[in-house]
Amino acid sequence: MLNKKTIFTGLVLLILLSLTGLALGKDKPRRTIKVKLVADQHYARYEQWQRKAARMLLDIAEEVTRNLQIDFQIVGYEEWKHDPEENLYNLTSEMIREVDIDSADALIGFTYGTCPDENVRAHTDGVTIPYRGMIIKTYPARCRRNLYIPYVMIHEMVHLMGGVHVRERSLMTPVFTDTVSLTIDRLNQNILRHTRDIDFRQGYRSLSRGSLRKLAQNYQLAISQGNNELLTHHELGKMFMAMGNYADAISVLQSIVNFDSTYTDAWINLSTCYSELGRSDRAIELLKGAVATADQRGLIHHRLMELYLTIGDSVNARQEATRSQKQGIVVDSVLLKRLQLPGEDDN
Ligand SMILES: [Zn+2]
Repeated sequence: MLNKKTIFTGLVLLILLSLTGLALGKDKPRRTIKVKLVADQHYARYEQWQRKAARMLLDIAEEVTRNLQIDFQIVGYEEWKHDPEENLYNLTSEMIREVDIDSADALIGFTYGTCPDENVRAHTDGVTIPYRGMIIKTYPARCRRNLYIPYVMIHEMVHLMGGVHVRERSLMTPVFTDTVSLTIDRLNQNILRHTRDIDFRQGYRSLSRGSLRKLAQNYQLAISQGNNELLTHHELGKMFMAMGNYADAISVLQSIVNFDSTYTDAWINLSTCYSELGRSDRAIELLKGAVATADQRGLIHHRLMELYLTIGDSVNARQEATRSQKQGIVVDSVLLKRLQLPGEDDN
């Protein structure tokens, strides 16, 4: 894990970087990303957590501004309670689903955990879902697993902009290795060049066709160099979808669910590809099979409801609406009325 020497090396690199600059997007105007800071029930126990969280962000903001030409603007704070978490990955997607993003581009969440077992190698200190949000986990001050926070935060910021893990000893090397570096490797520099102007709400569709094609090529390069993370494949699939290249999207997304049949978002995107190709029947068959394995069954039922509605099958749509509600998914009141189902306010 991190020791003083590696932290020192990191600091030296930081100074070197500040002298040389990364020339990333230097020709472009600065980009301001609006963020909302979120504290879960553990982090919210800190007195004035807002100040502490903002401090953490502002401490790295100067580095990010210099390297990426990106500024952060805090547009809100929110406390958010969740059930005991299984892992940081699920927690991050839960936050993104449950916390209102309001006028922000992305959510930056904070949680606090007990120091992990020394034998657990692959612990995580931060998890990011590109263009949506991230959660940073902090530990008690004396915990050796408490990674150098600015390093973790910059690492997650690069993920937020679409950056991927690479094998080089550089910024985007997975944090659980012993490497500490604030250099952004060349592959991610190329990725960030194409993503820095992305509209977080519209996603890949907001990029020019040329940028999108080059971005996809960089992701394919990362995969060919050994990045086999499902998230990387999933983002590539979404890029193909944004290009209207549903055949390639289907092949990428299908390989994800073949490998991990719990991956709800991949199932849902796969169904969208088929319905975009006019094959809602195929999309429905696919999701009926996914109900047994997907980790967010309620969302699968909700998507099935939408698909049945598009083909005018209100009997099945009604059934799927009820099933998704039973799984805790909120169904839009307009849809409920259309399906002649009671809304939440009705008795
Ligand atoms: Zn990472």
